[in-house]
Amino acid sequence: MTANTPLVFKAIRSSHPRSTAEREAILANPGFGKYFTDHMVSIDWTVEKGWYDPQVKAYGPLSLDPAASVLHYAQEIFEGLKAYRHADGSIWSFRAEQNAARMQRSAHRLALPELPTELFLESIKQLVTMDALWVPSAPETCLYLRPFSIANENFLGVRAAQKAAYYVIASPVGPYFAKGVAPVSIWLVEDYSRAAHGGTGAAKCGGNYAASLLPQQEAYANGCSQVLFLDAQEGKYLEELGGMNIFLVKKDGTLVTPELTGSILEGVTRASIIQLAKDRGHKVEERKISIDEWRQGMASGEFTEAFACGTAAVVAPIAALKGRGFIAGDESAPAGKLTMALRQELTDIQYGRLPDRHGWLKRLV
Ligand SMILES: *Cc1c(COP(=O)(O)O)cnc(C)c1O
Repeated sequence: MTANTPLVFKAIRSSHPRSTAEREAILANPGFGKYFTDHMVSIDWTVEKGWYDPQVKAYGPLSLDPAASVLHYAQEIFEGLKAYRHADGSIWSFRAEQNAARMQRSAHRLALPELPTELFLESIKQLVTMDALWVPSAPETCLYLRPFSIANENFLGVRAAQKAAYYVIASPVGPYFAKGVAPVSIWLVEDYSRAAHGGTGAAKCGGNYAASLLPQQEAYANGCSQVLFLDAQEGKYLEELGGMNIFLVKKDGTLVTPELTGSILEGVTRASIIQLAKDRGHKVEERKISIDEWRQGMASGEFTEAFACGTAAVVAPIAALKGRGFIAGDESAPAGKLTMALRQELTDIQYGRLPDRHGWLKRLV
């Protein structure tokens, strides 16, 4: 961080915010990622100036030159975190400094400039303060925050751009499982990999998602809501879902999750679940898990639960694994007990219903 990094945001209130009636209608049924608040953050960057001109301003379209590098070489990264309204009306973030640090790691991998943690945290605070009325208060609702950064030098040469920008937009979201937490089936994809050794798997970049959409369509076509990717080298070991990490639970209560190998995204939810499980006295193994071990373990009763986790869904119980010519597990099985207990504990901490014993929350408003 340079000495003159600007922490003072220029705040320009929207001249056309949504009316109270419009906002309340949206907050009553927000869905996920469909509606956006009245404001957004932008910070510009050039090689010469570093980060400059931080602003909170009216939400609206970006103006990009057709030659902007992001449109051609996908030099783009993003983050996802939430702002939670507590019963007393206050608004809090959850481990946001972890998202700031991860965004720096993603930026490094994609040869984008690293935004200092202080500036990341201040950008979140500025936007949530400006749009505080957009943070819903109904149970399990929140304001989803989407920081992202793009290369926007107008140049078709292939090299790291010398001009970039950082933005934050915000979207009120309803409960991820509108009809109560329901177990999902996941699809084992065999023809495609998500991330190779030395690739961008550990970076949160749009390119990873672009590559996951075709297998995701295959999952939908087979009645599954998510894809499970195996390692690209041997096609043998569990890695993660398109946008969530995975955990298995053994009958003795041990949690098992794929170790971080560089091709898996290091989820904040994953790290939090590991901590909460250890606090409860469960053993947690971070190691290689082969697809055969899981399938055989499901059949023998050694593995009794499985779940996916990430900021959006928090914890999504997995009932069954489907693949070409097989179903493992029981599609109509109820959510696992430990799965649901961990989900409950984590959301209770996030919404201020349990003490924040690890210091994970920061008050925004
Ligand atoms: C964001 C993301 C996750 C989950 O990370 P959280 O910090 O828990 O939200 C997992 N896998 C991928 C590929 C992701 O992009």
